[in-house]
Amino acid sequence: MIALGIEGTAHTLGIGIVTEKEVLANVFHTLTTEKGGIHPKEAAEHHARLLKPLLKKALEEARITMEDVDVIAFSQGPGLGPALRVVATAARALAIRHRKPIVGVNHCIAHVEITKMFGVKDPVGLYVSGGNTQVLALEGKRYRVFGETLDIGIGNAIDTFARELGIGFPGGPKIEKLALKGERYIELPYAVKGMDLSFSGILTEAVRKYRTGKYRVEDLAYSFQETAFAALVEVTERAVAHTGKDEVVLVGGVAANNRLREMLRVMTEDRGVDFFVPPYDLCRDNGAMIAYTGLRMYLGGVRFSLNDTVVRQKFRTDEVEVAWS
Ligand code: AMP
Ligand code: MG
Repeated sequence: MIALGIEGTAHTLGIGIVTEKEVLANVFHTLTTEKGGIHPKEAAEHHARLLKPLLKKALEEARITMEDVDVIAFSQGPGLGPALRVVATAARALAIRHRKPIVGVNHCIAHVEITKMFGVKDPVGLYVSGGNTQVLALEGKRYRVFGETLDIGIGNAIDTFARELGIGFPGGPKIEKLALKGERYIELPYAVKGMDLSFSGILTEAVRKYRTGKYRVEDLAYSFQETAFAALVEVTERAVAHTGKDEVVLVGGVAANNRLREMLRVMTEDRGVDFFVPPYDLCRDNGAMIAYTGLRMYLGGVRFSLNDTVVRQKFRTDEVEVAWS
């Protein structure tokens, strides 16, 4: 079976084509802005403009036509309303025109589900991106969120700090490079609040310290990463302990960070559990993860009428009954 998936919850428009076993195409385009802030209308315009060319590119890359597609999946939420509506409208139009079934996919769940294409069975997922930060795992028939950010996503926190340092967007890779030259740990507020996370305190304090001019930026970048990532690892470890699961996956754009990978590798090795990070193009926002999750849902008997395809800006991870696993 072949599924076509459209992702468009935020800056990235992605179109993926997959089977149960492999990715046939996974193309994307990301709207980048100087400041890196989120502009819902601009994202929507970006997606509307690029949908047709990206669809063409994906079909060419997969060497198929729309006739070969068995099910159409789209990112139903959570995300920016205007961007979500463009994607849902496109998915509906394709489904109607080509008489294909359609399914709406929860974006956060898709980030974790794609790891199952690689043989992962039932993981604890650490999903870290610009806007989202969540630790999630299946409990019974639902993905339960074991901890999540109470304010900003870890990626946004890093990007905002980078902007303050005047090193542009996206800040993640640049902060990572600077951090390698860090020599001294500077104390910053710890980000765990109960089971949840909060990155606004560490961001404010890092910026304040930077503005005093008394600290090396390399030390600040290093300390920022060490402090924020330790919190992510702690909440992940607690979810592993609580659920007794023996697999951890790291997904989302921030999964590119080698220091975060290393810290998780150490934690998982200590606990004797497996650790997996998908190839980067399947970690970042992408259409293949939507297609794959949509395909698993469809194969598991999930059916959507057109009325069910209304977008869900605040779509919660635990709202979805995972009937397909
Ligand atoms: P996403 O929101 O999933 O598209 O991912 C984008 C986010 O990932 C941005 O906030 C980037 O700064 C962040 N990011 C990308 N590469 C890295 C890296 N090497 N280290 C930390 N964050 C990164
Ligand atoms: Mg994402």
